[in-house]
Amino acid sequence: MHENRAMNSPEAATAAPPAAVAAPAGTPSVAFVSLGCPKALTDSELILTRLAAEGYATRQDAAGADLVIVNTCGFIDEAVQESLDAIGEALADNGRVIVTGCLGARAAEGGDNLVRSVHPKVLAVTGPHATEEVMDAVHRHVPKPHDPFTDLLPPIGVKLTPRHYAYLKISEGCNHRCTFCIIPAMRGDLVSRPVGDVLSEARRLFESGVKELLVVSQDTSAYGVDVKYRTGFFDGRPVKTRLFDLARQLGEIAAPFGAWVRLHYVYPYPHVDEVLPLMAEGLVLPYLDVPFQHAHPDVLRRMKRPASGEKNLERLARWREICPQLVVRSTFIAGFPGETEAEFETLLDFLREARIDRAGCFAYSPVDGAAANGLPGQLPDELRAERQARFMAVAEQVSTEKLKARIGATMQVLVDEAKALGRHGAVGRSYADAPGIDGVVHLQPPRKASTRVRAGEFVRARIVATQGHDLVAEPL
Ligand code: SF4
Repeated sequence: MHENRAMNSPEAATAAPPAAVAAPAGTPSVAFVSLGCPKALTDSELILTRLAAEGYATRQDAAGADLVIVNTCGFIDEAVQESLDAIGEALADNGRVIVTGCLGARAAEGGDNLVRSVHPKVLAVTGPHATEEVMDAVHRHVPKPHDPFTDLLPPIGVKLTPRHYAYLKISEGCNHRCTFCIIPAMRGDLVSRPVGDVLSEARRLFESGVKELLVVSQDTSAYGVDVKYRTGFFDGRPVKTRLFDLARQLGEIAAPFGAWVRLHYVYPYPHVDEVLPLMAEGLVLPYLDVPFQHAHPDVLRRMKRPASGEKNLERLARWREICPQLVVRSTFIAGFPGETEAEFETLLDFLREARIDRAGCFAYSPVDGAAANGLPGQLPDELRAERQARFMAVAEQVSTEKLKARIGATMQVLVDEAKALGRHGAVGRSYADAPGIDGVVHLQPPRKASTRVRAGEFVRARIVATQGHDLVAEPL
């Protein structure tokens, strides 16, 4: 086979062959074929850099390598054919081939992946700009060389959460300018992470034992707005940088692991409606963390909130129609500058009518540098605290009624803490409880000796009582 061929697209450039790196015997090695334009060349460089950094040897003869990566071009027919030929030769010479690059993203007639339809034996196919995905595929087929320094770290890096749940950040920054918030000043405008990277990280987390993935950002509904919902790639398939597509893919990745996907900081924009059927199907947990902050349109205007309050009751009703088991968590601010008693009463009415399952409330408190500090009508501290307490009394009433309605139901519980297989009781959470912010499920010692209750595992349990914001359940 020929390595590092001449460039074959109108944007041709010359690729230097990757240097064969002398490595100790037994070091896993990868051969690389780099085709295409200078953009493809830089992708090749990134992948080769990662391979070298992780201790893989790179070599030029495909036959002697543990695996071959072919970076393809899909620009013109001639380039497509050359890429397909190169893959065929790599399969003949070595048999273990990962395909990346533009051709990897192309569909054949009928919609199947073109590379897979011609060469079904390839190990993995990705589109261009997919270093993480390519490295994931390499790791799956040729385990990383041992490195006494970096191998001290687990494959998912250092996590501060227990092993069975993890946060997945999908973007940084925010395009809004809520008057009580200084996050955009500190972190800048929205920058969405590439969807392929996000999905690759999710898969690594599930593979390493994570049973619950918590999607976080400043504004999860806005995912992809900054990149105009650009199409990225995951496992060689095109995926839009968009909340619905992300949620569906995450659900599909989680399913074989029996793991949960939970969405946080979802603003009630109209397109969120599309995500509800995924919850009804069971791909994503029927739980939405929606920071409403207030319900009166004038207060929301003074707050400069992204979604106005007028349609939120209708929206919640529609969501619950699509997915009746939906649990909604939200946070609110009481005593915002200028809040009148009537505006506050509107908030309490909203809470009662919206039947928010889990509502938290902060008494408004000025943040250094926030625009709201300059608004007229700053309320005295005592009034803010009094309204917060009135809010929480209503919130607790709603929440308790909703919790009591669960008595007698059987729920899946993810166990957070258990000793002696739960013989002395354990603590877990149902789909309705996010860690650290919602209630918990107190698990009684199992009646049947065969029932095992282990931290980090799921158990089915019958709800027998409520206890404040929590449930009490008997493992089955
Ligand atoms: S509170 Fe408003 S400005 Fe601050 S991060 Fe959330 S949406 Fe953005």
